[in-house]
Parts: sequence; structure tokens; C-alpha cells
Amino acid sequence: MPLIPAPPLLMASPVPFSSQELANLNPDDLRQLIHCFLSFNSNPLDNIHRLVNLGRELTGSLCACYQSRFQTEWVERSQQGSLTCIMDNASQSNCSRRQLNRSENTSSLNLLRCPTCQCQQNGVSQNWVITDDIHGKLSMRHSPGRPFNSEQRRIISLITRAIAIEEDRLYEQERQRIQQERELVVSQIAQQIRKSLDLQDILHNTVRSLLDFLEADRVIICRINDDGKGDILEEARNPEIPSMVDWVLSDPWLVDQKCHQDYLSGQVLVIEDMQQANLDPGLQQLMDFFKVRARLVMPIILTQEVEANAGDDTPSSGEAWGLLMVHQCHHPRQWQIDEINLLPQLATQLVIAIQQAQLYEQVQIANRELSELATQDGLTQICNRRRFDEYLDHEWGRLLRSQAPLSLILLDIDWFKQYNDTYGHLAGDQCLQQVAQSLKQSMQRSTDLVARYGGEEFAIILPDTTEAGAQFLAEQVRSQIAHMPIWDLGSHGNGSMSSQVTVSIGVASHIPFPEASPKLLVAAADLALYRAKEQGRNRVCIATDADFNQAE
Ligand code: GH3
Ligand code: MG
Ligand code: MG
Repeated sequence: MPLIPAPPLLMASPVPFSSQELANLNPDDLRQLIHCFLSFNSNPLDNIHRLVNLGRELTGSLCACYQSRFQTEWVERSQQGSLTCIMDNASQSNCSRRQLNRSENTSSLNLLRCPTCQCQQNGVSQNWVITDDIHGKLSMRHSPGRPFNSEQRRIISLITRAIAIEEDRLYEQERQRIQQERELVVSQIAQQIRKSLDLQDILHNTVRSLLDFLEADRVIICRINDDGKGDILEEARNPEIPSMVDWVLSDPWLVDQKCHQDYLSGQVLVIEDMQQANLDPGLQQLMDFFKVRARLVMPIILTQEVEANAGDDTPSSGEAWGLLMVHQCHHPRQWQIDEINLLPQLATQLVIAIQQAQLYEQVQIANRELSELATQDGLTQICNRRRFDEYLDHEWGRLLRSQAPLSLILLDIDWFKQYNDTYGHLAGDQCLQQVAQSLKQSMQRSTDLVARYGGEEFAIILPDTTEAGAQFLAEQVRSQIAHMPIWDLGSHGNGSMSSQVTVSIGVASHIPFPEASPKLLVAAADLALYRAKEQGRNRVCIATDADFNQAE
């Protein structure tokens, strides 16, 4: 019978069978083998299923069972589809890819049993499928007293190699899937960082995502303080694991100088088994207390711009901001390279978030300072005319709605030109500051507002205050200033007390009404102030109806 040419799939296999091997096969077996290859699809698990089935048929085995597990637990976590255990009566039962207990030794694969027929007894041929990443076992049970001959063993050898190729494809698919998952986690965190300026939020989501992705027991972000100790800012953990929040950490990575150097170099610290890591007894105790058996520690280092004029070989400096830690509790863990590589990527994103948040905070502070500057009088540090106008408008509108009285005190220092002329402009400035402070201290309600109206004139807005109340306060203010020691620090500079400073005050009070504006109140208070000056100064005058009429 002519040899059937090998199908393209077989030719393209990474471990092609030699033509000699194929030529040695019985033509019927070869046909079935090729037929099996031709029926392969893109799912390696389906193909392995076909191969096991074919192996049983071609060798006339009573039972064929293939079981495998990933050598690396990160792949193992992503549970595969199931593999097939084929029985002599062609009935099938599934046995899934084995979940490896992390503490289990790889040699325990020998103990794997076919869950259906328990074929661990005599008459079973065990054949290994070992790739870089997979440990698999193909068990075939031959009929009693009829061990496999060389032809059957050749077939089994071909089948195991074909399974190995499919296992490699499966592994590659898994690797790509995990790579994509990892990129997704990083991009989701990067997205959060772009969307949010709230650092606490970002840290919270990062530990949560990392815990889920690594299926770890605890993930924490710890901030390193100036004393070298660490506060836990965020934690995500499995509910049965004790919390580390509120503990202050003094990890050697935080305090030991040597570790500090490692730390600044930005390396991930990988410990697979804490009990084998020769830790300082204190740290070991702490780790035992929190049930940590394996961990990853990623330093978060804020890079600082190197001065533009610094020499070329000046090393770039970094600030040790904190640590990102992943804990596996209860048992050791062989960390995978993908898992380890994820941490620097996340740390880079966190550094961006932290620096962004710091920048945002600085901008906020600058904005606050700017808006204070915009509403403050530079000399007296009380509100300026702009803030006065704003607040008066606002309160007029508010009290118009609630129909409550709004009072205004206008106050002008008497003979101030003369004061300046006598003691000098600097002493005049000082006097203005003292008057402003005195006015500020006289205010009793948080809603009262004292402002420098201009030059040596001040104003006090008193919302929800009647004319009598405003008059009482104005009298108090006048009397307080009249008795205030005003020091002459001006041209004489001898610290002697100057002649007493007094103020004249105009008070206007009204319930706002729609036809008027707050200007009415200012004009009426100004008329009253004018009268106080005319009547001899150092006194309080109240705006009358006539003043309001005139002001309108
Ligand atoms: P009256 O009792 O009628 O109010 O007399 P007066 O001298 O206070 O009034 P006038 O309006 O003639 O003079 C106001 C003076 O206030 C003139 C100006 O030199 C002084 N003044 C205004 N602003 C400032 C300031 O910021 N610092 C100092 N030192 N003096 C100021
Ligand atoms: Mg004046
Ligand atoms: Mg004056």
C-alpha cells in the first residue's frame, strides 16, 4: 500500500515525526493517525482528547487516561477544560486538569490516579508528557497477560509526542491570555489614574485589582515616614486573613541601611518561603503573626528632576515614598515571572498618581492663596473693597428673600491726614492695621464682615442685625478705638504714645426691598457718617428716613 503523504499540520509541528517512524507503522494505524491529525481544531484540549482516544483504539488498551498539570501555578489557577479518561467499553468520564496544591511536590504526579478506573495497578503503562511547562501522564491499561508489543509502544510514543505539541500550544494560549489579563489590569489602573485625582481612591483600587489578579491573600500599600517606619495606607485581603491596618511597620526594608540601598534601586524583593529566607527574628515573628509565608515587595520611588545644570554623570535622585506588598499566607508560593513583572508596571502608575496628586494639592493651595489675595487688603489683612461689594450684594439678596434686616457700619478715622503729617506715613499705616485688628476682634458672629472700604475708611456688614443692634456695636467700636493705645512708631521712632485716634461712624439699617440695591445702604450710611463728622467727630450717627430718601 502506498504511503499517504504526511498532512501539512504534521509537517508544521515543532517536533515532527521522522518519516522512518511513520514508515514503520502499520498502514491502517498510520491512516487513522493522519485522519486524527486532519480532524484537529484550534482547541488543543479537543485535540488531546482525540489523541488519547486514538491511542486507546490503536493499542487495543482497556483504558487510556491522560492527566496533566502545569508546572507553574499561575497557569494552574486558570482552570482548563477537562481531559478525557477513556474506558474499555468506550464510555467516557472527565478528569480535569489537576489543581496542584502549592505545597505539593512535583513528584506527586506519580500518585495521580485515573479517577474512574483507578488504574494504578499492574498492567498499566505510564508514559510521560514533559514539556518546559507541563507535566502529564498518559496511562494505558493493557489486557491481562498481554503487555504492549513494540508496535504498540511506538504508537504510544507518537501519541505522547503529539500530545506534548498540543500541550505547548495550550500553554502558549494560556500565556497570551494571562499577558492580556495583566495588560488589562495595568491599563485599568492607568485609566483610573487618568480619571481620578483622589490618591486614596487610586490606592484603594490598585490593591483590590492586584489582590484579585494575583489571587494573593493580602496586598498593602505602605507609606514610609521620615523616621523610616511605615504606615499602611491601603489594604485589600481575603476576609479570613488578619488585617495589618493600624500597624506601624519597621521592616528591614524600611530601616536597614543595606536594604534601603536595594530599595532605592527599585528592585522587587521576591520571597517564596519566609521560613527559608533567614529573616531577622523580629521580622519573622511579625510575618508569622500575620501568617505571611511568601511575599513580593515593590518599592515606590518618586523620581526627582535632576537639576538642568548638574553634570552629566550626576545620578538621578529618588524619594522613597513607600512600598507595595503582596502576601501569600498559610503556604509558600513560587512567584511567576509575569506576577513579579506586574509590580514595577503598577509602581510606575502609582508614582504618576502620587506625583499628580501632589501637584494637584500644590495647585489647590496656590489657588486658595490666590483667592485669599484677591479678596484681602494687603496692608490690614482684612477683606478688601471687592469682597465687601460681593458680600453686601450676596447678603442683600439673601435677606431680601428672608425679609430680615441688614445693617452697615461705615467708619472713618478722624483727622487722619494730620496724623500722617505729624507721625509719618509708616505710623499712619500701623495705625490703620491696629484699627483693623480692633474691628475684627469686635465682631461676634461669623456672618459679620469687616472690610477696608478705602483709605482710612472701614465698613462692617451685619446681616440679620437690627438698627439698635448695629448702633450698639458701632458705639462699642467707637469707644474701643478711642481708648486704644496707638503707638507712634513713625518718624520719631521713640515708642511714645501718640495723641488718641478717634473714629466717626455712620450706621444704616434696612430690610432689603426689591426696588432698591445695596448701594442705598452705603449711601445712607455715608450720609450718617458725614453728619457725625459735622457734629464734631468721634461719634455714631444713625441714617434717618430722610437720609434713605435722599440716598435713593
Ligand atoms: P476727617 O476727620 O475729616 O476724616 O479728616 P481726615 O484727615 O481723616 O480726612 P482726609 O480725607 O482729609 O484725609 C484722609 C487721609 O488718610 C489722607 C491720607 O494721607 C490718609 N490715608 C489714606 N490711606 C492711607 C494709607 O493707606 N496709609 C496712610 N498712612 N494714610 C492713608
Ligand atoms: Mg476719609
Ligand atoms: Mg478721615
